[in-house]
Amino acid sequence: MQLSPEAFQPVVVRGVTRVTPSSFIISITPSQGFSAFAPLPVAFSISIADKSMSLDGAFEQRPYTPLIPNSVQPGMPTPYLDILVKQYVGGQVSGFLAARQPGDTVLVRGPFIKLQDPEGMLKRFPRIGMVAGGTGIAPMLQVLRYAAATGYTGRITLLYGSLNRDEIALKDRLDALVLEFEGRMTVHYAVDGDPDGQHSGPVGLMSEAMIRECLGEGPQSDMIVLVCGPPPMMKAVGGGGRKEPLGGFLKDIGYEHVHKY
Ligand SMILES: Cc1cc2nc3c(=O)[nH]c(=O)nc-3n(C[C@H](O)[C@H](O)[C@H](O)COP(=O)(O)OP(=O)(O)OC[C@H]3O[C@@H](n4cnc5c(N)ncnc54)[C@H](O)[C@@H]3O)c2cc1C
Repeated sequence: MQLSPEAFQPVVVRGVTRVTPSSFIISITPSQGFSAFAPLPVAFSISIADKSMSLDGAFEQRPYTPLIPNSVQPGMPTPYLDILVKQYVGGQVSGFLAARQPGDTVLVRGPFIKLQDPEGMLKRFPRIGMVAGGTGIAPMLQVLRYAAATGYTGRITLLYGSLNRDEIALKDRLDALVLEFEGRMTVHYAVDGDPDGQHSGPVGLMSEAMIRECLGEGPQSDMIVLVCGPPPMMKAVGGGGRKEPLGGFLKDIGYEHVHKY
């Protein structure tokens, strides 16, 4: 099944699985008659529509960042896509997705490319730094899977911030990647709060000191820093979203190469 950026198409819900108190994975498969989605780029997002509230043809749509299964090699068709969704209180589309049942259909369009030349990036940079917050881990996982599958030999350091220890999502997938990279990938799990004092990684909101400590001092001409997270984190860490100029901690530290999702 070939997705289209222009037109919404129905896909089928495989299941909805809660992964943390505030987030779940919704897994989607192609609509009837297709066994797989046509090959998808790295990194990409899709748009999902909620037409359930539509009275007059108007509907809401939001972008999401699917995960390709580990078993699927880059450039190959994929039988299903998993989407990590954070459920916001009163959130329209995240609430709509949380209520889906296996066999339901949802409307999607895409893919929308979020990284122009992943192959060139991996060739050029022997070191990758990643700063992710919450569901911002999803595009990092797309890149990590691609790097692992294409034999990237450089070093990767990921700083991954969550609200608390229970909200750390997809640790199993990250652990599997750490093993695959055989000592060349390090993950620092940061939590905003640690009331019981059990956390062994950085504690507190992401700060300049935390980033310096995990990713090193700038400038580093051989390293690209990828960053993705909720708007307040993007503001503090990178001076805002993709369309805004680099600012925040990453600019102050002086990293030369930064890609904001
Ligand atoms: C390129 C891109 C990729 C994305 N990928 C994912 C993904 O893989 N998984 C995922 O869960 N989300 C992702 N998002 C965010 C997603 O598109 C929606 O914004 C989010 O699901 C909230 O939509 P909603 O309709 O549930 O909430 P809304 O009805 O729009 O808002 C409800 C409440 O939630 C608050 N809120 C909404 N969005 C955010 C936010 N990002 N941070 C903090 N508060 C917020 C609003 O202020 C409001 O109070 C992505 C966003 C972009 C731009």
